Amino acid sequence: MSGETEASPAPRHHTLRYPATRLPGVGAAQRHGAAAATATVLDEVPWARRPPGPPTPPDSATTPDRPLESGCSYDETGAFVDLHTIDEVTGAAEAGAWRSGDAWLAGGTFLFSEPQPHLSRLRDLTTLGWPALTVGSDGLEIAATCTIAELAGFAAPQWPVCDPLIRQCCDAFLASFKIQNVATVGGNLCTALPAGPMTSLTAALDGWCTLESLDGTRRRVAVTDFVVDDGVTALHGSEYLRAIFLPATALTGRSAFRQGSLHALGRSAALVVGRIDAGSEAFVLTITASTRRPVQLRFARFPRAAEVRAAVDDAIPGDLWMDDVHGLPAWRRHLTETFAAEIRDELEARP
Ligand SMILES: Cc1cc2nc3c(=O)[nH]c(=O)nc-3n(C[C@H](O)[C@H](O)[C@H](O)COP(=O)(O)OP(=O)(O)OC[C@H]3O[C@@H](n4cnc5c(N)ncnc54)[C@H](O)[C@@H]3O)c2cc1C
Repeated sequence: MSGETEASPAPRHHTLRYPATRLPGVGAAQRHGAAAATATVLDEVPWARRPPGPPTPPDSATTPDRPLESGCSYDETGAFVDLHTIDEVTGAAEAGAWRSGDAWLAGGTFLFSEPQPHLSRLRDLTTLGWPALTVGSDGLEIAATCTIAELAGFAAPQWPVCDPLIRQCCDAFLASFKIQNVATVGGNLCTALPAGPMTSLTAALDGWCTLESLDGTRRRVAVTDFVVDDGVTALHGSEYLRAIFLPATALTGRSAFRQGSLHALGRSAALVVGRIDAGSEAFVLTITASTRRPVQLRFARFPRAAEVRAAVDDAIPGDLWMDDVHGLPAWRRHLTETFAAEIRDELEARP
């Protein structure tokens, strides 16, 4: 430390180069019957909220040239912007070439929850208008931009595993309905927290991710291979997650679910799902939250309790158990083994 006082950086002025009809939240606002007028739409956008009080005249002390406070300002439409390094938010289709400092934007619930000083431009995927849920004879396609609330409301009597597993996983968020109305399934996978319940759900149901490059090239990766570590995915560079496909074969049977955390409504310390498909003796056990990445164990025939325990021990080396403020590795391992045994017993007991 030199002992010298550092000058505060000059406040930056951020401009939203964004037509009102392209604002994230517009789709949600319209679905909820809100008028599409700019002011209404801006009120729906978490990062562009106006402070309480009447609109400020454009030539007052709060115009973009004279920011209200360091790092916060109004753009030319009067929107209040408090992202300190973001110079531009643009629709994904209009963004052009990938630039250093770019990031894909979905619901923004992670992006706007903590500082992102390395980012300067957000490319909004929600402007692309992908249908949230597409049912086919071979399975269910979930658009990356499908919100948690949209998925939670999905019903498919022909696929019994969806009820209650989808709801159980949507409820496993440490988040209220306000977050669930905005957060997306793809955003959850791409954030790649071990406690990502959409990772748990789609991994448990043998999901496949479709990844797309800016030149339109596509590749498919199993969800169990998409999240490779805490906060790390299989995405390369500017690639984005387009959709997650759940094959019908994985939706036909029964499931059992266990989730535990240090305190009620806390972030998951262990989330385990077991599955048996219709007409099959195979047992699929998917372990998430307690491990740094999803771990899936497949048994060709329904296993004995000792086999399940041995398989968990064999598959998960010591350094794969998650270690953070939400639980010590030894406790997570204990929870996981307990849940795995309970799930096996539950599925054995239910015809
Ligand atoms: C109160 C609160 C509670 C939360 N609880 C949980 C929890 O229990 N478990 C949990 O896992 N998370 C939790 N989160 C974090 C976050 O809300 C979720 O992970 C959410 O699903 C992120 O989705 P999003 O659409 O908001 O993503 P964004 O915030 O828009 O994006 C998240 C990240 O993914 C990238 N991204 C988004 N979509 C794509 C895509 N299609 N292709 C490529 N990259 C993409 C973004 O660039 C960014 O890096 C919580 C957040 C809050 C504020």
